[in-house]
Amino acid sequence: MSTPSSGAGRPQRPPRPVIELTVQSTEQLSPHLVRLVAGGPGFSAFVDNGKTDKYVKIRFPEHDVTRTYTVRHVDGVARTITLDFVVHGDEGIAGPWAANAKPGDPITFVGPGGAFVPDPTADVHLFAGDASALPAIGAALEALPADARGVAHLVVEDESEVLELAAPVGVELRWHFHSPAGSNPDVLAEAIAAAPWPQGRVQVFAHGERESMKAIRAVLKERDVAREDLSLSGYWAHGRTEDRFQAEKKEPIGQIPD
Ligand SMILES: Cc1cc2nc3c(=O)[nH]c(=O)nc-3n(C[C@H](O)[C@H](O)[C@H](O)COP(=O)(O)OP(=O)(O)OC[C@H]3O[C@@H](n4cnc5c(N)ncnc54)[C@H](O)[C@@H]3O)c2cc1C
Repeated sequence: MSTPSSGAGRPQRPPRPVIELTVQSTEQLSPHLVRLVAGGPGFSAFVDNGKTDKYVKIRFPEHDVTRTYTVRHVDGVARTITLDFVVHGDEGIAGPWAANAKPGDPITFVGPGGAFVPDPTADVHLFAGDASALPAIGAALEALPADARGVAHLVVEDESEVLELAAPVGVELRWHFHSPAGSNPDVLAEAIAAAPWPQGRVQVFAHGERESMKAIRAVLKERDVAREDLSLSGYWAHGRTEDRFQAEKKEPIGQIPD
C-alpha cells in the first residue's frame, strides 16, 4: 500500500526542495473545506511529479511541526498550486491556519511526494475516501480517460459538503453522510461491501481516516484486487494529531494489515 515512508535498506531518495510561496487567494468550497491558491517566485522550485496524489509537507515553524496536504492542481501558466484544507474546528494547526489564511500570507513546504496515477488499462476504478481525500480523488477523476468506468464512494458530514467533481460519465459518484468526520469507520467499507463487485480488473484508490481504511482493507481482502492495483493508506486518525498519527505507524494500531 502506498504509505509515504523511508527507512533502512531503502534506496536514498534525493532531498525534496523547500518551496516558499504566498497565498494568492482563498475560497470556501463548502462549510468544512477551504481552498488556497499559492504562488510567487518560489514556484520555480516546484517540480510537478505528475502523480494525482502528489502531496507536500507544510512547515509550521512556530509549532515545530509539518502537516501533509495534497496538491489539488498545478497551474504552470499562472505558476500556482491549489490546496484544499479540511477545516475541522478549532483543534489542530493546519486546519485553523487555513481557515484564517489571507492573500499575502507565507506558506513554506517540502515536496512533492506521491505515488498514484490512475491506470487507463484497468477495467474499473474504485475510489473511496473522506473529505481529506477529496483533493486526491478529485485530481484522479480528472485524469481518467473519458471512457473510464467505476465508482467513487465519498463520505462527508452532510449534503452541504458535496462538491461538483468532474468525472467521466461512466464513473458514478456516491456521496455518504456521517458526522462528525471519522467517528464511524464503517461507512465506506459497508458501502463497498453492499455494492456488487465489478467484473474485470479493478484499480483501487482508498485514503482517509485510518480506521476507515482498515475496514475497507478487510472488505477488499475478500475481493480479487491485485496488490499492485491497490493504493490504500490512512491520511489522519480520529483523535490523533498528525504527529501522533505518524508516530503510530510504527505501532500495531497504526498499521493497516496488508
Ligand atoms: C499524503 C496525505 C495527503 C493529505 N491530503 C490532505 C488534503 O489535501 N486535505 C486535508 O484536509 N487533509 C489532508 N491530509 C490529512 C491531514 O494531513 C491531516 O488531517 C492533519 O492531521 C491535519 O492537521 P491539523 O493541524 O489540522 O490537525 P492535527 O493537529 O493533526 O489534529 C488535531 C485534531 O484534529 C483531528 N483531525 C485531523 N484531521 C481531521 C479531519 N480531516 N477531519 C476531522 N478531524 C481531523 C485529529 O484527529 C486531532 O484530534 C493528508 C494526509 C496525508 C498523509
